[in-house]
Amino acid sequence: MADIEREAMEYDVVIVGAGPAGLSAAIRLKQLDADLNVVVLEKGSEVGAHILSGAVLDPCGLDALIPDWKEKGAPLNVPVKEDNFYMLGEAGKMRVPNFPMPPLMSNHGNYIVSMGNVCRWMAEQAEELGVEIFPGMACSELVYGDNGEVKGVVAGVFGLEPDGSYGPNTEPGMELHGKYVFLSEGVRGSLAKEVIEKYDLSKGKEPQKFGLGMKEIWEIDPDKHREGTVTHTMGWPLGSNAGGGSFIYHLENNQVYVGFVVHLNYENPYLYPYMEFQRFKHHPMVAELLKGGKRVAYGARAISEGGYQSMPKMVAPGVALLGCSVGMVNVPRIKGNHNAMLSGKAAAEAAYKSIQAGRASDELTEYETEVRTGAIGKDLWKVRNVKPLWSKRGLVASLTLGGFDMWTNTFGFSALGTLSHGKTDAAATGKASKFKPIDYPKPDGKLSFDRLTNVSFSFTNHEESQPAHLTLKDASVPIDVNLPTYAEPAQRYCPAGVYEVVEEDGKDPRFVINFQNCVHCKTCDIKDPSQNIHWTVPQGGDGPNYPNM
Ligand SMILES: Cc1cc2nc3c(=O)[nH]c(=O)nc-3n(C[C@H](O)[C@H](O)[C@H](O)COP(=O)(O)OP(=O)(O)OC[C@H]3O[C@@H](n4cnc5c(N)ncnc54)[C@H](O)[C@@H]3O)c2cc1C
Repeated sequence: MADIEREAMEYDVVIVGAGPAGLSAAIRLKQLDADLNVVVLEKGSEVGAHILSGAVLDPCGLDALIPDWKEKGAPLNVPVKEDNFYMLGEAGKMRVPNFPMPPLMSNHGNYIVSMGNVCRWMAEQAEELGVEIFPGMACSELVYGDNGEVKGVVAGVFGLEPDGSYGPNTEPGMELHGKYVFLSEGVRGSLAKEVIEKYDLSKGKEPQKFGLGMKEIWEIDPDKHREGTVTHTMGWPLGSNAGGGSFIYHLENNQVYVGFVVHLNYENPYLYPYMEFQRFKHHPMVAELLKGGKRVAYGARAISEGGYQSMPKMVAPGVALLGCSVGMVNVPRIKGNHNAMLSGKAAAEAAYKSIQAGRASDELTEYETEVRTGAIGKDLWKVRNVKPLWSKRGLVASLTLGGFDMWTNTFGFSALGTLSHGKTDAAATGKASKFKPIDYPKPDGKLSFDRLTNVSFSFTNHEESQPAHLTLKDASVPIDVNLPTYAEPAQRYCPAGVYEVVEEDGKDPRFVINFQNCVHCKTCDIKDPSQNIHWTVPQGGDGPNYPNM
C-alpha cells in the first residue's frame, strides 16, 4: 500500500501495545521529562481488553516504577497467603512440599491480580502524566526511513474490503513517527516478528519457545473460596504427551482463575490442548472446587518460554522490543509481568538519555545491556535450564535436575552450563502416521465446555466484512501438505476453533478460517508445522473483550 497518502504525526516515542511493558515505558518517559511527546497505541477496544488477566504478580516491577503504588490505589488487593504444588494422577494427587523449592519459587510477597485492571490503572497513571493513549488503534505496518531505520507505524486502518483492497468506506489510518518506536506487543508480536526477521535479530540465539495458556474465570461456592491461595499442578492429564500444567488462583469476590498451559513443543499432532484443559477440570480435586460454581469468562494466549538464551537482540535502528515481544517470562515461576514492567522502564531511560543527547533513530544499546545484565537478566539466567530439561528429559528429570540447577544458580553457578532448546515448536510436530488419534471425553456443559461456547465467554468480536487477519502464505498447504502429513493440527491446537477442515460427501476437503473467533493467542503463527499461517492485526477494537473483573 505504498501509494496511500496518510497524515503523519510526530512524537518523541511511539509505543505499540498498552500492556505492562508499553505502559511502564510511557510512564517512565514522562516521569523523566514531562515535555516528551509520548503516544501509546492499543489494538483492544479499551486498555485491558486484550490482557489475559488473572495472574500472580511479583510487584518488583511496579516498586521500581511507581514506589507509592499502594497510596495511588493500584489494584493489588490480594496478597498470596498460601502456595501449593501438586503432582496429579488421574484420580489422586501428591503434595510437593515447599521446602525443597528454591527461594525464587516462593510466592510470598506477590499478589493475585487482574492484570487487565492493573493495566487500566497504569493507563490512568500514564494519562495523568500526559501520555496520549489511543485504544482501538491496531498498528498494522511499520514505516521505514531513508536509511532503513524504523521511523514509525501505520495505525487505524479501518473498513478494508474483504479482499484487502481499499473501498469507499476505507479509512487509510495515519502514520505515527517517533525518534524511537517501542514494540511492546506481547508474545509473538506481528510487527516485532517483522523487525526480528528484517534485522536478523535472532542470529546466534536459541529459537524462541512457547506454551499455549488457556484460562477461565469462575465464581465458586463461597464456602470453598480461600482468598490468596495459589495452587499449581503438573502431571495428569498431559502425562508424557506434552509438558505443561495448571494454575488455580483464588482472588477476591469468590472468584478463581483456573488456567492450563500446554508447551507447544509437543510431538503428537492429535493432541488437543483445549480438550486437555477441559479434561483437567474433571480431576476430583478441581471438580470438587468448581462444582456448583459458574464459569464467567474464557481466554487464551501464547506464553513465551525460551527464556534467557532465546531473547533476540532487542534493538535495531529506531526501534526497541520490550517485554514479551522479546520473551521475558521466568518459566518455572510462570511470571513475566514484572520483567515486562522493568523492560519498559529500562527502554524509557535509554531513550530519554539519547533524546537528551540529541540522538534519534539509532540503536538503544544501553537498553539491551540493562536487560541482559540487570534485574531481568539475573531473574532469567537462574532458570535458563528448566525449560530445556523439561523438553528433553521429561517432567521428573526437569523437577529434580531443574530444581537442583535453580538451587546452584541461586548461589551463582550451574553444573549444566547453558542448555539449548533445539528445534522450534513448529518443527517439533511429528507425523500423524506415528500416532493414534486421542479420544477426548465430551464436555458435560457444567465443568467442561465445547470450544465455541467458551469462545462466546471471551466476548470476542470481529467485523465480518474485513479481510481475514490470519493469512496463508500458500493456500494449498493445509489440505495438500498438513492434512496428509500432520492430520492438519490447526483444527486442534487453536483454542478458539478458528480452523476447520470441512469434508463433505463427494467433495474435496476444504480448509476454512473462521477468523471471527480468533482470541489473538497467536498459537497458529507459532505451531503450524509448515509455518504457513501468518497472524496480523485485524482492524482496531476487534478481538476479545476480556471483562473488567
Ligand atoms: C496463561 C498465562 C498465564 C500467565 N500468568 C502469569 C502470571 O501469573 N504472572 C506473571 O507475571 N505473568 C504471567 N504470564 C505472562 C505475562 O502475561 C506476560 O509476561 C506479560 O503479559 C507480558 O507483558 P507485555 O506488556 O510484554 O505484553 P502483553 O501483556 O501481551 O501486552 C501487549 C499489548 O499490546 C497490544 N498489541 C499487540 N500488538 C499490537 C499492535 N500491532 N497494535 C496495537 N496493539 C497491539 C495487545 O493487545 C496487548 O494489549 C502469563 C501468561 C499467560 C499466557
